[in-house]
Amino acid sequence: MTETKKRVVRANRGLELQCKGWEQEAVLRMLCNNLDPEVAEKPEDLIVYGGIGKAARNWESFDTIVQQLKTLEADETLLIQSGKPVGRFRTHEHAPRVLLSNSVLVPKWANWEHFNHLEKQGLMMYGQMTAGSWIYIGTQGILQGTYETFAAIAKKHFNNTLRGTVTLTAGLGGMGGAQPLAVTMNDGVVLTVDVDAERIQKRIETRYCDRMTHSLDEALEWVLAAKKDGTPLSIGLVGNAAEVHHEILARGVEIDIVTDQTSAHDPLNGYVPVGYSLDQSNELRKENPELYVQLANQSMKKHVEAMLEFQQRGSIVFDYGNNIRQVAKDEGLENAFDFPGFVPAYIRPLFCEGKGPFRWVALSGDPEDIYRTDRLIKELFPENEALCRWIDMAQERVAFQGLPSRICWLGYGERVKMGLAMNELVRTGELKAPIVIGRDHLDCGSVASPNRETEAMLDGSDAVGDWAILNALVNTSAGASWVSVHHGGGVGMGYSLHAGMVVVADGTDRARDRLERVLNTDPGMGVIRHADAGYELAKEVAKEKNIVIPMDGG
Ligand code: NAD
Repeated sequence: MTETKKRVVRANRGLELQCKGWEQEAVLRMLCNNLDPEVAEKPEDLIVYGGIGKAARNWESFDTIVQQLKTLEADETLLIQSGKPVGRFRTHEHAPRVLLSNSVLVPKWANWEHFNHLEKQGLMMYGQMTAGSWIYIGTQGILQGTYETFAAIAKKHFNNTLRGTVTLTAGLGGMGGAQPLAVTMNDGVVLTVDVDAERIQKRIETRYCDRMTHSLDEALEWVLAAKKDGTPLSIGLVGNAAEVHHEILARGVEIDIVTDQTSAHDPLNGYVPVGYSLDQSNELRKENPELYVQLANQSMKKHVEAMLEFQQRGSIVFDYGNNIRQVAKDEGLENAFDFPGFVPAYIRPLFCEGKGPFRWVALSGDPEDIYRTDRLIKELFPENEALCRWIDMAQERVAFQGLPSRICWLGYGERVKMGLAMNELVRTGELKAPIVIGRDHLDCGSVASPNRETEAMLDGSDAVGDWAILNALVNTSAGASWVSVHHGGGVGMGYSLHAGMVVVADGTDRARDRLERVLNTDPGMGVIRHADAGYELAKEVAKEKNIVIPMDGG
């Protein structure tokens, strides 16, 4: 083990500052929090989640970023290029403290081959979405979105509950790990296949998954018993999904819902080919990356073939945002896109209202601060029963990872209301320290991703990337604390452009002004993007909320 491998990074807690202001301190704590062993999947390699989604290019870059943040003035801006600090300029107090651009390649070169080549030379880093933009909060970050998706499926297909239904999926990594809990929160039974027993174990320890087994027989026994009793249950099965799914088909077991969250977006680092143990696959990846990718792609084709067969037999099947259909199609499976992506199937109406994964983190490190904000949600939105129910469930069932945090999907108008109220609680001292407010890049107005967030847009504008760029530009103008532009998150190189933003509520008037601007511009981008594409709901929301659309969304 090298010296760097022994490093353990964790965010500071409490009121003592290492930086020259709370905003810079917030950036530093969030960068360190992304690499907290409780939060990150492989912190020793700076990998946070989602295949090789990293927080900094290498340890030298990490150390320099930390050192820069400690001396950064309140009117300066630090620039990060694919995880490496490259410049620092005097700007002004309402400008972002940090601007980041991660994994962005000129379109003609925007593929894994070229990216891997540059990465090998130390010139690039894969930022995924919130890994490289320092607002990852562990598996909770995706939990409510996953919960909402399964709730939408229950509503659409199963009389409002998943009780007595069986979901089959794969991938228990940083994001995929939310699946078992999201299904059991909707009262269903779920079998999740993962090749890596340690990943399953991590989900058991953090209470996202109930049981683990190496035996398909045992797993199916548990599944069928729980289904019969109508008891919610989640099971992690050690195995390769491309194999196990076919075995389940061969046995004729009835499955109601099928999806997948293996890291199919990255064939070299994210998907383990059939017939290879974890150790063998690690070796092959190093020795013969071309063969590895070839085998992984073939396995993914097999995997999608099984998903299509489940669909033929009557299961509800959907792609959960990892681009597995595209890989299978590129491997010659013509009908790979016969099942839909989760956004057009279940999420788009929320996007039309500017709704998305709003999240916040307590810089004090004290869980009580989050519990106070939980109460604040109920005080501000008592009429929203589903939201209040979510807060109760999250309090009861979600284990914090790293700095205490919370997530809930809020729309245009709601986000600014919550943000300003949190700033007020910091000002009055009801919260012990400032709050960091951010979101996933997977949001209503910040992504162009034709196989995911912008799949099947009404006007065919799926691949128009301008919206993601405008999102970053307007949030920078509005004064977010840090803003990022990334490429390739979620679905891999060549398939997405997306932007992130974080804004700090430190109780000051300056923060109040910035929050008021940013928490309107950011979800407002979602409303105007969908109104422009012709969605009536978005046009209505724009009218109701007085969002100016010069050509009326036409
Ligand atoms: P991760 O890399 O942390 O985990 C992937 C998991 O898949 C690992 O545990 C790995 O062991 C397992 N795996 C790989 N090959 C397998 C195989 N053949 N059979 C069974 N298991 C296998 O990734 P993550 O952060 O959990 O993200 C998963 C995928 O979902 C990524 O492609 C990511 O881009 C995508 N994603 C989706 C959403 C969404 O909202 N739908 C959000 C973020 C990420």
